[in-house]
Amino acid sequence: MKKTVLVSGGAGFIGSHVTVELIEAGYDVVVADNFSNCDRTCYEGVKKITGREDLPLEVMDFCDLAAVKALFAKYPIDAVIHFAAYKAVGESVAEPLKYYKNNLTSFLNVLEVAQEKGGCNVLFSSSATVYGEPDVVPVTENTPRKPATSPYGNTKTMCEDILRDTVKASDGKIKGILLRYFNPIGAHPSALIGELPRGVPNNLVPFITQTAIGKRECLSIFGNDYPTPDGTCLRDYIDIVDLAKAHVFAVTRMMEGKMKQGCETFNVGTGRPVSVLELVNAFEKVNGVKLNYKFAPRRAGDVTAIWADPTLANTEMGWKATRTVEETLKAAWAWEKHLAGK
Ligand code: UDP
Repeated sequence: MKKTVLVSGGAGFIGSHVTVELIEAGYDVVVADNFSNCDRTCYEGVKKITGREDLPLEVMDFCDLAAVKALFAKYPIDAVIHFAAYKAVGESVAEPLKYYKNNLTSFLNVLEVAQEKGGCNVLFSSSATVYGEPDVVPVTENTPRKPATSPYGNTKTMCEDILRDTVKASDGKIKGILLRYFNPIGAHPSALIGELPRGVPNNLVPFITQTAIGKRECLSIFGNDYPTPDGTCLRDYIDIVDLAKAHVFAVTRMMEGKMKQGCETFNVGTGRPVSVLELVNAFEKVNGVKLNYKFAPRRAGDVTAIWADPTLANTEMGWKATRTVEETLKAAWAWEKHLAGK
């Protein structure tokens, strides 16, 4: 029998790519989203890519406990992948309560209902932000977490702990996997789904593609005086489809009883550090476009350098990032052009 995976926040950037990969791997998927930070574009794109016109969509808020209960009563849910959360670092500093309330309540509700129904496999989308400014790079899963520098980051750290404690107390009924994402970028090769930032993008690649298409005048590279080879920050940019596939490996590992602990943690990155300037140059070269950019002061809260040691995910889950930065930047550009109708 086909297994069913609930994807909360399934209409967003990461959720939509994960939904595609799950369906292609043979899972039934229920997409749930309140469309607070996205529209129906990616949900419609997922249906087109997969040919699943009947893909279930539940428009709901995970902070509504009764709605979460009803959802679990309606579908035979074998696993939940929880994306539904706010994600803007700066906004979280300005409006901490909004972040704590939404990001914690929604996850608590998922776990409460999972526990009530006698157990579930739960995958939480965490972030490399939990490592803060690491003392040693690359970071492994055993690299100590640092105190969060924003309420957003703190909700990731707190949700990790909440899942770990809940698994521990569940007598084996709840299983958990924490995936710590590095910098997901790019878009599906079909150019039917991708990142859709509202307003001015915070993240680098959407800002690059919007500048290249003419929506923004000039990219500011935040800081060129960091202690790195070219003075700009180093990150681990991971292709969104590669990242999405990691979720399929993780869900399958839970379903097939292959976990070695009740709650496991994996870095989802490439292991390859790339500087902001290298990324900009690669974008220009692979897409044959000139990008208007300037150097600007450092952005508050940015860490100098972080990239993953993905060995554990490679060896334990059998997952590995396969796409080159060039392929990924081509896909990101194709998506921006698709949005512009070009
Ligand atoms: N960055 C930049 N200009 C921008 C946006 C980001 O120079 O308009 C830099 C940022 O300082 C960081 C890197 O790009 O070094 C990645 O930033 P992003 O916000 O995409 O992800 P983060 O690593 O902060 O999660």
